[in-house]
This record gives sequence, structure tokens and C-alpha cells, in this order.
Amino acid sequence: MQKKARPMTEQSMRSATWMSARRVQDLLKLAQKLQDDPQQEQRLAAQRCKACFYFTAMGGAAMTTQPCMSCGVDQQYSSTNTSAMCASCAESGNLCRHCGGDIGMDMGRQAWPKAYSESAP
Ligand SMILES: [Zn+2]
Ligand SMILES: [Zn+2]
Repeated sequence: MQKKARPMTEQSMRSATWMSARRVQDLLKLAQKLQDDPQQEQRLAAQRCKACFYFTAMGGAAMTTQPCMSCGVDQQYSSTNTSAMCASCAESGNLCRHCGGDIGMDMGRQAWPKAYSESAP
């Protein structure tokens, strides 16, 4: 693959500088949020771990259906950025609804819930 040379103008260099500075700023701001958890209340209400709540996720804008990993009930999403589980399964398992991991990102967690479909008689 061959790409064309980029234009080199004062404007293009200014804009590259701005973009890079902005990327660094955004990442530092994000790091601060991950540290301080300023929206903890909203985050827990949305049943998300810090990573899934504060990282802005991009997804294609296509209506997507995916079953909850626990109860297997189909969930509807307005983009391809789907979540692992439904809200009630996430809440009862103390899990992040989006990634399906521990909501407090506890790496040492011992007790993990069984999928509802497995534990049902
Ligand atoms: Zn579920
Ligand atoms: Zn998560």
C-alpha cells in the first residue's frame, strides 16, 4: 500500500499539533476520572465498572441484538457497541453490565455468579 505525502502547511502542522495535544489532554483527563470516579453514582446506577463507564466506546450505528450472557434474553442496542448482560443479571451478580467483569474491578474476587441459564432447574 502506498499513501500520498501529507500536505505540509502551517495550517496542517498547527492542526496536527492541536490534535496530539488534545489526545494527551483527553487521556490525562480520563486517567483523572478513573482515579477519582467523579460520577460514581451515575456509574453504579448504569451498572458499569470504571473502565466501561469512563472510556468512551465507539460502535457502528446499526441496531444490534445480543442475548444477555447470563439469562440469555435478547437485548436490543442502538449500535454495535453491545453490553454483555441485562441490567438485572448484572446487578444481582455485582457485575458490570457492559463488560461482564466485577463492577469494582476486584482482581482478587473469589465468588462468581453462575449463568442464570445454568443454575436454573
Ligand atoms: Zn440477564
Ligand atoms: Zn465493565
